Amino acid sequence: MKVKVDKDICIGCGLCVSLAGAVFRLDDSGKSEVIDEHGADDATIRLAAESCPVHAIFLNDEKTNEQLFPPMEAKK
Ligand code: SF4
Repeated sequence: MKVKVDKDICIGCGLCVSLAGAVFRLDDSGKSEVIDEHGADDATIRLAAESCPVHAIFLNDEKTNEQLFPPMEAKK
């Protein structure tokens, strides 16, 4: 699974770091960044993405590049 954080959206709440500290960390500007997209199992990373209050975490399938989260239909 590909994991990306949109730093323009992230508000630096730190929740993703609390949930998956081996995957995310806060950078010098206090925004989340991905350090290891395989640092936790997919369910944990998905939970972090779903828990992000501003949906700044994007998950894509590694093979098909299909966006897994947020669901595409949510953007309509
Ligand atoms: Fe940023 Fe979302 Fe992580 Fe909070 S949970 S630090 S807003 S990416």
